[in-house]
Amino acid sequence: MDTATSPERPEARSDPGLGQRIHATAAELFPICRSLAGPGARATLDVIARRIALQRVETPSGASAHDWTVPREWQVREAWIRDPDGRIVVDFAENNLHLLNYSVPFRGRMTLDALRPHLFSLPEQPGLIPYRTAYWEPQWGFCLRHDDFLRLPERGEYEVCVDTAHVDGAMSHGEHVLRGASAREFVLTTHICHPSLANDNCSGIAVLAELARTLAGRRLNWTYRFIFAPATLGALAWLERNPDTVARIDHGLVVSCLGDGGGPNYKRSRRGNAQIDRVMAHVLAHGTPRGAVRDFAPDGYDERQFCSPGYDLPFGLFQRSRHGTFREYHTSADNLDFIRPEHLAASHDILLEAIEIVEADHVPRNLSPMGEPQLGRRGLYTQIGGAAQTVDIESIRWVLSLADGRHSLLDIAERAGLRFRAVAAAARRLREVGLLA
Ligand code: ZN
Repeated sequence: MDTATSPERPEARSDPGLGQRIHATAAELFPICRSLAGPGARATLDVIARRIALQRVETPSGASAHDWTVPREWQVREAWIRDPDGRIVVDFAENNLHLLNYSVPFRGRMTLDALRPHLFSLPEQPGLIPYRTAYWEPQWGFCLRHDDFLRLPERGEYEVCVDTAHVDGAMSHGEHVLRGASAREFVLTTHICHPSLANDNCSGIAVLAELARTLAGRRLNWTYRFIFAPATLGALAWLERNPDTVARIDHGLVVSCLGDGGGPNYKRSRRGNAQIDRVMAHVLAHGTPRGAVRDFAPDGYDERQFCSPGYDLPFGLFQRSRHGTFREYHTSADNLDFIRPEHLAASHDILLEAIEIVEADHVPRNLSPMGEPQLGRRGLYTQIGGAAQTVDIESIRWVLSLADGRHSLLDIAERAGLRFRAVAAAARRLREVGLLA
């Protein structure tokens, strides 16, 4: 039996260190304080650039990004709150989630009543620090565990330090391109703007960097472009500045949350019937555990930009657990323990399988279509009735039966309920014996 017909996701296809390697990349990314623009984004690109060749692009603050404006860079030196007894009770240095991301500078003394509007906590999850941003209003604030919030003394004066700066500079993003035989492109992208959040950020960056390494050196039909950019603004700035590349995109995937044990999940492109939608549905239907596919909705990540009506590009969203559905989402519990090497490796393999389908799919033609060709004399069927077959006869029969020049290999796999990999292996075998063009 051809091993390609195994119904299990063959984890062994990946080298055993794959998950550990991706996790190690995520761990290196995790402590960095990222935001839309600034030193955190550049430090993040530095980590990626140590693994793959990265073209770095700087888009100046104040430049347009379609209907938006590229923000100024955000810098943080220190940020803390001292209670009336002089103890530091909230400290950016301890966890970068403590500072409301993009906070404006502030220095002063105030009562707890005056401070309260600047404090964010989660009464439902009192032990976790929430992640909050204030990109579009000049605000400052702190995020803290609700347990700690409840312990703040009522009387006396607090001292607050938010030593931050917003400076004119640039928004950074990185691109890695693997040239294939065709200039037509398959784009994979993830955001790089969340601070210390492992699943909802570091996992996607780390998996894509590893996937680019996996593909390096392969003969590819499509050109693969990996884009690491801040959410929303990064995608908008890229789209506005790259109309020629946009016109060459055949397939696209946005990825995030690739390291937890949920899912896997795929959200279709706005088109709903793009090739990537069919491919991802096929991979998830044949995986273990079986994944879920849902229709497009205008929420989520940068598929909102790539699928906006003016572009309507074939971009879907691939995740393990869907964003916003797991309790760790946008909290300090989304840490390096929450993402596991085995899930990161499985996410890598799902993406790789999708790419292999896109690469291998084609419309074959049966060269002996008048009745069934005799398989036995071509070594494709054992001559001894009842003996175990050494070839995947079911896939071979399906390919011969549907290879009329109108069905692609993916069409055949779907119609037969077989895994693409098995059908592709059967087609290769049939080509070798001259039965398929
Ligand atoms: Zn997020």
